[in-house]
Amino acid sequence: MDTAHDRALFDRLIGFDTTSAKSNLALIDWAANYLDGHGIATRLTYDADQQKANLFATIGPEIPGGVVLSGHTDVVPVDGQDWSSDPFRLVERDGKFYGRGTADMKGFIALALARAERFKQQARRVPIHYAFSFDEEVGCHGVRHLLADLPTGERRPRLAIIGEPTLMTVANAHKGATILTTRITGLEGHSSAPDKGVNAIMAGAEILQLIGRMAEERKAKPVAGSPFEPPYTTFNVGVIEGGTAHNIVARDCRIVWQYRLMPGDHDHDIKERLGRFVEDELLPRMRRVHPGAAIVTEADIDLPCLVPEPEGAAEALVRELTGANGTSVVSFGTEAGLFQEAGMSAVVCGPGSIEQAHKADEFISLDQFAQGGRFLDRLGDWVAKQ
Ligand SMILES: [Zn+2]
Repeated sequence: MDTAHDRALFDRLIGFDTTSAKSNLALIDWAANYLDGHGIATRLTYDADQQKANLFATIGPEIPGGVVLSGHTDVVPVDGQDWSSDPFRLVERDGKFYGRGTADMKGFIALALARAERFKQQARRVPIHYAFSFDEEVGCHGVRHLLADLPTGERRPRLAIIGEPTLMTVANAHKGATILTTRITGLEGHSSAPDKGVNAIMAGAEILQLIGRMAEERKAKPVAGSPFEPPYTTFNVGVIEGGTAHNIVARDCRIVWQYRLMPGDHDHDIKERLGRFVEDELLPRMRRVHPGAAIVTEADIDLPCLVPEPEGAAEALVRELTGANGTSVVSFGTEAGLFQEAGMSAVVCGPGSIEQAHKADEFISLDQFAQGGRFLDRLGDWVAKQ
């Protein structure tokens, strides 16, 4: 492959400031144009404000199945980070490419785009699809629109390779990530008569205890032989806020908490248990004093785990292409679980290291970038043989 072309596209992509809070349309329009220049049609799906878009494109026959190359176009902010060079310019130094998104994960997207013409020649019987999303870094919101827009049933793509940085190892599992806000509304009153009010902070404390119990139960039963560290679903309470003053019964309380679900653990166990405790126990007690008392829990982010697939088709293909004889897990969440939920076999494999992601002076080594390119070349060769 033409490595100068790989590099030119990489340079172009890094130049778009696609921090999640901003629009990614400049990048998406540019990529759509580029693909159009190669006779490849694209489908865009937008957020509610039409300021961000996903790009989906099919190279090859419009038939069921095929392999999705998935990447997110957004990057994390550079605010407050001490960069040695302009983060939105690709800079080569000491065998590394520096820039925001070099590792996470515009390298993979650049390499995929650079092979569009070659894939077009190769994808005669099995299509290759590009799925480039927005808002991954803030909860994988964008790709949900893209997935909802895909053809259903038989006509779905069959496999998805999520090119997040794994140093080209094959990752077939990660934990989920669910981030929730619980808002408790009680009744204000004078602190000398606490029973005439409903203390939202005290109600919150009972919810915290339940979260603590659910965490302890899982910690007590780690999954033997699991590659995850720690090998159980974890919980964290990150923010608690509420009340006005020491002599006022607290009317409001807000708790921001999360759990990272292990593949095989059950989300509904957590949600149902919290729901039962609130509806059957806590809320009735509060409403005896104040019928307007309320407890509402909303998930701000709800990212499913990537569950290892027995004899997974995506894993088998990527192992064949990389020559890897084992698999690993990743410690971060990706869009892979969403592709899997949408009925595709999914695996995570891409160039660069997550160690360098989200930091100042983010980089990908030239070697990793080249390895990523060779991997996609082999994918093209494999597709041509089908
Ligand atoms: Zn990423």
